[in-house]
Amino acid sequence: AYVVAQPCVDVLDRSCVDACPVDCIYPGERMAYIQPDECVDCGACEQVCPVGAIYYEEDLPEDWGTYTRINAEVFIEV
Ligand code: SF4
Repeated sequence: AYVVAQPCVDVLDRSCVDACPVDCIYPGERMAYIQPDECVDCGACEQVCPVGAIYYEEDLPEDWGTYTRINAEVFIEV
């Protein structure tokens, strides 16, 4: 799945939300989150993000590795 990382925080441009063909990007308070089970790995969101916040999970810069979990945890049902 693709992952929204740190550059989105307090930017929340939302271009990705409109670009996603399966509507699996959800804006939160400070950043957007990708629902990893719904993401079809098309890469459209990565192309349109104006701040380069979105990466394929395996291509995430090391410093932002925790964002895979940060995105996924938003969607865990409690
Ligand atoms: Fe949506 Fe495609 Fe981005 Fe996955 S890679 S979040 S399906 S736009």
